[in-house]
Amino acid sequence: MSYNGTCNGYALFNQVRIPRTHLLMGNAAVLRDGTYKKAPHSKLSYATMVHVRTIIIQSCAWQLAKAVTIATRYSHVREQGLGPNGDLAHQLPIMSYKSQHFRLLSLISKCYVILFAWKACDASYRDLVRQQSNNNHVMLPYNHMLAAGLKAWATSLAADGAEDARKCCGGQGYVNTSGLPDIVNTLVATTTFEGENWVMWQQVFRYLLKGVTSIKAGESPPKDMAYVADHHRLHARNQQGQRCTAYGDDFLQPETLISIYAHRASRLIMEASDLLSSNPNLSPSEAWNTHMMVLVSAARAHIDLFVLTSFSSHLSITDTSLRPVLQQLISLFALTNIISPSATDAISFIEDGYLSSAQLRDIRELVNKLLEQLLPNAIALTDAWAFTDASLCSAIGQFDGNAYETLMSWTRQLPINIEARQTGGVLVRGWKESIEPMLRRADGLKRKREGGEVRVKLKL
Ligand SMILES: Cc1cc2nc3c(=O)[nH]c(=O)nc-3n(C[C@H](O)[C@H](O)[C@H](O)COP(=O)(O)OP(=O)(O)OC[C@H]3O[C@@H](n4cnc5c(N)ncnc54)[C@H](O)[C@@H]3O)c2cc1C
Repeated sequence: MSYNGTCNGYALFNQVRIPRTHLLMGNAAVLRDGTYKKAPHSKLSYATMVHVRTIIIQSCAWQLAKAVTIATRYSHVREQGLGPNGDLAHQLPIMSYKSQHFRLLSLISKCYVILFAWKACDASYRDLVRQQSNNNHVMLPYNHMLAAGLKAWATSLAADGAEDARKCCGGQGYVNTSGLPDIVNTLVATTTFEGENWVMWQQVFRYLLKGVTSIKAGESPPKDMAYVADHHRLHARNQQGQRCTAYGDDFLQPETLISIYAHRASRLIMEASDLLSSNPNLSPSEAWNTHMMVLVSAARAHIDLFVLTSFSSHLSITDTSLRPVLQQLISLFALTNIISPSATDAISFIEDGYLSSAQLRDIRELVNKLLEQLLPNAIALTDAWAFTDASLCSAIGQFDGNAYETLMSWTRQLPINIEARQTGGVLVRGWKESIEPMLRRADGLKRKREGGEVRVKLKL
């Protein structure tokens, strides 16, 4: 399916003595007299896993960015249809259609969002390493949760996004020389390895549940769950439920977006934890399994909020000339998560009535405006990643936009076509070995039938 160049082999050893100094003894150790010395902290090796997951988040952002670069370039070259009204005399580039804007620009926004989330996760990991070198492991549970959640979030987003980028290129996206099938297959595997995503979401919720237990006991939760404690206090005062008061352009403000995402995450986290103890006849593990889909939603909402918050905090430290376009990207990301027909779990933004139908209409209008604003920058936003043609390895995603010329040139270079050219434009070997014998067999059969040599028995 993918990783064709990788040999996933294994090794078995029998009666082999490994010198003590060849053991990986970064944490636990075997002393010269054979005594086993435990690691200073039982979960110390988790930090390596956190690091690997952080690397996966970064690499899947770049893979998705590659797929989106190819699809965006090709969409400016590929002409199809006579315009949105079907009344033009000539065909238009497919980038003229709103659905293509929506899909590609929201994918571009996802690439940037994953990259900013990775930066925040990486910075947190580096803090953890510094603290652990002083034998301080208090941040390990948080970093473990963050890397698990972001790994699940980013790899799913990237795998689904690359597949949609492939679909944005129609049939050409299915051709190997587009470079897209390889990217898609590579990304799909990331949802499984280094922690299967559905299992990762449960690990995130285990952390959240501990925080909720602290909140319910009147203790301080971890810092990243302070918003859940605020919601809990507010809800205790106002049982009627809360409503979002934003309208129109308010939805472009990072604070408004963050408050919508925080409301949704805290509500889901509290509801999920309440559900776990709602039926005394269920054991904790039965309750966990029964309500697993709600737990997963809550975990995902917590990570969505982290992503939005970390991007927004990066805005203040980026070059002022870049801020407007980054602001548009984060708004597009946050708002399309609410109204996109293919968004994961969009229902959780509205199921408690926090957002009204009129507000959803405002959001749809804003998304259309954001698409118009971002459209002239679509190519620049993908060129900004500075992929070389060699690294994209895509005939339809070349920097110069010569998709069809490159496709033709690469096709001519295929060994099968080189050989055909050397034998007068026809692949004589293929004809002789495969097609001619088949036709001869068919011809012989036909002649036998005509000569009445083949009897067909009918069973009535
Ligand atoms: C390309 C690739 C490279 C890999 N490389 C390595 C490697 O180098 N080294 C290595 O050790 N491993 C490697 N793996 C293995 C990988 O880590 C496992 O495939 C992965 O952890 C999933 O485990 P599994 O295959 O046993 O799937 P399973 O655990 O059988 O999962 C199958 C399904 O069951 C569901 N499921 C399982 N448990 C639960 C649960 N508790 N709750 C809810 N749902 C559950 C999952 O969501 C999934 O949908 C690689 C895998 C791939 C695809």
